[in-house]
Amino acid sequence: MIGIFGGTFDPIHYGHLRAALEVKEIFNLTQVRLIPSAQPPHRVQPIASAAMRLHLLKLGISDQPSFVADDRELKRAGRSYMIDTLHSLRQDFPTQSLLLFMGSDAFNTLATWYCWQDLFTYAHIVVLTRPGFVSQTLDDFFMARLTTESQELKEQQAGRLFFQSVTQLDISASAIRQLIAAGKDPGFLLPDKVLTTIKQNKLYQ
Ligand code: ATP
Repeated sequence: MIGIFGGTFDPIHYGHLRAALEVKEIFNLTQVRLIPSAQPPHRVQPIASAAMRLHLLKLGISDQPSFVADDRELKRAGRSYMIDTLHSLRQDFPTQSLLLFMGSDAFNTLATWYCWQDLFTYAHIVVLTRPGFVSQTLDDFFMARLTTESQELKEQQAGRLFFQSVTQLDISASAIRQLIAAGKDPGFLLPDKVLTTIKQNKLYQ
């Protein structure tokens, strides 16, 4: 089973890394692919360049051999639609279960994503929740795909919806950027190697 984390990673921080590590262990994933988006369709555009975000991501995951910095969205022209990314991953991994992870905030906007229903053709969707989280009411489309049996994610390659609670650290890339812009120290919110490179390149000031 392969895990997929999309995001802007502007920059990568311990919130991303802790969640990725927990799901790797919970689902016994062979690898977790972190995929920075070139032009995210749903949000303001990133501050750091694509090449720099990828570089910071690689520094952030360098101690975790099962984490992979996947640059396929950066190589693709135009907007970074998840459906194109999953289609391309499915070609690379034709026989593996693909688990697309997203926070509950992202899941709540899923119905606005381009070709969102087709995402389930290529992958399972695993929504990362806080302990005690209560989901919004799920419509028939989601109810038909919902499972509470993690074994089903292994037995089928795609098509299921699963909710998984993980430790969520209250860390965001935007808060880190704001701290830097205010001349404050975001130490211990992100790996030292990443922060050192941010400082050397005077990013987010
Ligand atoms: P920004 O603050 O710029 O919006 P962000 O910190 O939310 O950025 P993204 O790169 O947009 O980070 O998020 C990538 C993915 O990581 C998303 O699926 C998001 O839900 C998840 N994520 C972000 N922060 C955390 C966190 N603290 N804990 C768990 N997951 C997180």
